Amino acid sequence: MAQEKVIIFDTTLRDGEQSAGIGLTTNEKLEIARQLERLGVDVIEAGFAASSPGDLEAVKAISAEIKKPIVASLARCYIPDVDAAWEGVRDAKNPRLHVFISSSDNHIMNLLRKNPEEVLETAVASVEKAKSYCDDVEFSPMDATRTDPEYLFKMLEAVINAGATTVNIADTVGYAIPSEFAQRIEDIKSNVPNIDKAIISVHCHNDLGLSVANSLAAVKAGVRQVEGCINGLGERAGNASLEEIIMAINTRDDFFNISTDVDTTQIYRTSRLVSDITGFTIQPNKAIVGANAFRHASGIHQDGVIKDTTTYEIIDPKTVGWPSNSLVLGKLSGRAGLKSRLSELGYSIDKDDLNEIFESFKELADRKREVTDQDLESLMSSRRRIADIPVIYKLEHVQVSTGDHEVPTATVKVSNSQDEVFTDAATGTGPVDAVYQAINRVVRVDNTLTEYRVDAVTEGIDSLGDVTIRIESHGDTFVGRGSDTDIIVASAKAYMNALNRAMAVIEN
Ligand SMILES: [Zn+2]
Repeated sequence: MAQEKVIIFDTTLRDGEQSAGIGLTTNEKLEIARQLERLGVDVIEAGFAASSPGDLEAVKAISAEIKKPIVASLARCYIPDVDAAWEGVRDAKNPRLHVFISSSDNHIMNLLRKNPEEVLETAVASVEKAKSYCDDVEFSPMDATRTDPEYLFKMLEAVINAGATTVNIADTVGYAIPSEFAQRIEDIKSNVPNIDKAIISVHCHNDLGLSVANSLAAVKAGVRQVEGCINGLGERAGNASLEEIIMAINTRDDFFNISTDVDTTQIYRTSRLVSDITGFTIQPNKAIVGANAFRHASGIHQDGVIKDTTTYEIIDPKTVGWPSNSLVLGKLSGRAGLKSRLSELGYSIDKDDLNEIFESFKELADRKREVTDQDLESLMSSRRRIADIPVIYKLEHVQVSTGDHEVPTATVKVSNSQDEVFTDAATGTGPVDAVYQAINRVVRVDNTLTEYRVDAVTEGIDSLGDVTIRIESHGDTFVGRGSDTDIIVASAKAYMNALNRAMAVIEN
């Protein structure tokens, strides 16, 4: 007998994008959506169409392109919102409308300032409106875990009668405890008379660090859709981390006896892409996708893994598409070798691109001698960063002199899109500051640097340095990233990346 399946609902582009400090362009959202399709999620929540014209545009763009997964837009229980959501997803091959309203006394009194009967009527009217557009309608009672159970049962029964095909029990504030949450699901199953006409879903937040545990307890209790975000992005402490849920179900198949349609070998790439685009790096000890997730440090563990990997490894890193860190290409590798390795990593490249990539690869191989899969991933993602945003200014050259008895001084050469070249110099409190001051003399964008971070892409002194920065300009936050074997150059690239992004937005 075929195993039952749990529907994987990704909300990285909606709830994840609501994380403080993330603002994605339509192109960036599209790129994430394409990768989610490769990953094989069942539903992509593309945005909250009524929230802004930008969100509507992104939902439409994703609906036009994504074919396999269902594309959903969120809407409040408010008719103009439902109309906007439908406008967003109407051209999708598999559209879904997702309406929500608060159900807890706390939210009803403090947020909606209505009485519970009115809220129930509004919910039903909105589901009916959504159903008039689309067969696939999801309803979420917001703050469901702090909702009076009797009222919740009544609301679920009413919205299912009105046409909801999925009911999503939202632990909006991350308040639930796994055993209690599982019990609530059981209670819903036994107290909502028409519950068999809808799929029960859960949406858990991580305020107490329990979002994945709550989601899994719910699956065990019979839930057949789980919502979450890649890398656990989302409001406040985030949503349930989708890759952790997928791998828990996959690894403990014996316990859950259920499956997903996800291609787990796409997990690593999806996680890196999302981290790259959002600028939210992954903590090293994060389950499944953290840099240390498959690294064995203690002698006893290393000894065990050498004798038999299963001694301390419950997941083969290859299962999640982890790239190998052994030498794959060197200085003497040719175009064909590079192309074939990149296609094994999942990149399809045309001839013109290959020539350019090969140039960057040669530069890297000259400095690093050995080029690993992780270096290649980093090289491809820095290309993407450049390709995706209009380059108004480009860094041509940077030189710094610094030392313990010297005032750090930087000289930069920057060109603009009209091929004009500017050279300037400045001093600073340190070498990076000097470079940024020098760039500021050419590229005049008022900004404050709010975050600066360097990560090594691989181990070793010749490793690529990956610099992530955030700047604030005209009330918005912009992420910039750059990589190079020289961290000063990587820092300069990251700054140019952030400035170009800021200029693209400010000029519009
Ligand atoms: Zn949420």
